[in-house]
Amino acid sequence: MTICRRLSALAAALALFAPPARAQRAASPLPAIDSASLWNTLGALSADSMQGRRMGTAGNAAARTLLVQRLTRAGLVPLAPGFVQSFAVTGRDTTVKQGVNVLAMVRGADTSRALVISAHYDHLGVRDGQVFNGTDDNASGTAAVLAIAEFYARHPPLHTMLFAFWDGEESGLRGARAFVAAPPLPLARVAALVNLDMVARLDKNELYAAGASPYPFFRPLLEATAAVSPVKLLLGHDTDDQGKSNNWINQSDQGAFHAVGVPFVYFGVEDHPDYHRATDDFGRVDAARYIAAVRTIADFVRRLDQSLDATVPARPVK
Ligand SMILES: [Zn+2]
Repeated sequence: MTICRRLSALAAALALFAPPARAQRAASPLPAIDSASLWNTLGALSADSMQGRRMGTAGNAAARTLLVQRLTRAGLVPLAPGFVQSFAVTGRDTTVKQGVNVLAMVRGADTSRALVISAHYDHLGVRDGQVFNGTDDNASGTAAVLAIAEFYARHPPLHTMLFAFWDGEESGLRGARAFVAAPPLPLARVAALVNLDMVARLDKNELYAAGASPYPFFRPLLEATAAVSPVKLLLGHDTDDQGKSNNWINQSDQGAFHAVGVPFVYFGVEDHPDYHRATDDFGRVDAARYIAAVRTIADFVRRLDQSLDATVPARPVK
């Protein structure tokens, strides 16, 4: 957002999410995302070679190359030439930087409205010689959205899904704002946004979903998701009741969509001691909890897709 448990944990996670026997399948209704690939992607995006993925840097471009290669291999439809939407960002010192979103699509049986599933892939870069790897913020959401995109490429959804990887979030939601300013499809056809930002550090096994206060029609779906989730899925952080800083609506890319009236659900964890520090590293992530969080989010996406017409009203866009 703006403003290791090592190999044993990995082995446990992989065993936990190995293809279930027939008898277990009914008891484990969560979507079968590729958890080993998810974990490997998190490690790759967190590597020092990505140099903290700051907008306009070679490390940021390397992360983008990884995304484009994987989306191409999975057979997703580019929403822009080469999957990329470029936009200019003028800094306070009037220098102009180029930001680049990565945008892909899987067509649904019903193409009248679309879901946008998103995460920002940029982070803070290198400061005073230290690489800010940004594993939780937001390699975690980026790897998750990629895994969900690859899942839906294999299992086409009912409704068209757009998968968006935003650049420039750390500079003020720049990529999401650029998308909203020049959307590849009319925003009235975007039924809802599901945004992920910081979904790896479930230090208390808690994951938050924000959005049900301004958009209460999401609440039953979120409660149904929470009921079968292996993590504690909590609703909140979408009002000023606990003070403005605890209202996350404008603290990540969903703010750009909320501003034009697109309903959203945002998934993320509360701040932790490594937030926006050079210690936000891969080695501090509990693999089993991260994978469980991503499967929970994928379960919500599936429920939303399957019940979209009964859940989310069509609307005029501001
Ligand atoms: Zn973030």
